[in-house]
Amino acid sequence: MSEERIGLYPGSFDPITLGHEDIIRRASSIFDRLIVAVLINNAKNPLFSVDERVRMIQCVVGDIPNVEVRSFSGLSVEFAKSVGARVLVRGLRAVSDFEYELQMAQTNNIMCPKIDTIFLTTNIRYAYLSSSIVKEVASYGGKIEDFLPEQIIPLVKEKYSKEKS
Ligand code: ADP
Repeated sequence: MSEERIGLYPGSFDPITLGHEDIIRRASSIFDRLIVAVLINNAKNPLFSVDERVRMIQCVVGDIPNVEVRSFSGLSVEFAKSVGARVLVRGLRAVSDFEYELQMAQTNNIMCPKIDTIFLTTNIRYAYLSSSIVKEVASYGGKIEDFLPEQIIPLVKEKYSKEKS
């Protein structure tokens, strides 16, 4: 029996954007199983809790049978090993992403040579898009409909309406 090819797509996903969704859909067709992993990082002061982020991603990509959503803390390579994933998936938007992503991939490879990182280039429609830019627009009451999966839009609006009241 051939070994299952498992990919791990780690990130903050605070919140999941159309850019993330695009990467998940494309990566899910490359692997037998894709695990989307939300990093528990208390330092980042997130808008959504880790559980909320996991549920939001499940809601957006729940139709893809080989995608699983989990949360993790610590190093991505250690989590990858623990779930049997040999490949980390990351998205590349612009040159500005490249330097950091290359450094991370090389560091991960030194720590764990059996695990490789692959990069999917962003769909050009989402090249400008990040969770932080969406949060910034939302915080000023701007239109976020073009950036987020439709299920996520009311949840982001609700967070900021609560903040104001
Ligand atoms: P992190 O804090 O790990 O960068 P993010 O949630 O911001 O977490 O991003 C997770 C991954 O998704 C990263 O590899 C990032 O480059 C990629 N990504 C983010 N936005 C987009 C987008 N619009 N198109 C393609 N990839 C993206």
